[in-house]
Amino acid sequence: MEYDNGHWGPSDINEVFAQESCHIFGAADEYAGCSCDVSGYHRVPNLNCKTCTSAQVPCLMNANTLSRCTWSKGQIGWRL
Ligand SMILES: [Zn+2]
Repeated sequence: MEYDNGHWGPSDINEVFAQESCHIFGAADEYAGCSCDVSGYHRVPNLNCKTCTSAQVPCLMNANTLSRCTWSKGQIGWRL
């Protein structure tokens, strides 16, 4: 991680850290170029990926929004 990270700067480092930390546990990116394939220990499909839906919801794994969608939660092992 570094301060010069696209349009995210020092004031956004917490969001970048959260997003990158979710990768450690298997969460997949949801922005352009993402895959709809399953990810994470529970093999949850990446259905909030920009290329898989026309109704993408705000999510940490898309634009570092400090909220988690159902699919990212499942990918990091947070199943209800
Ligand atoms: Zn990422």
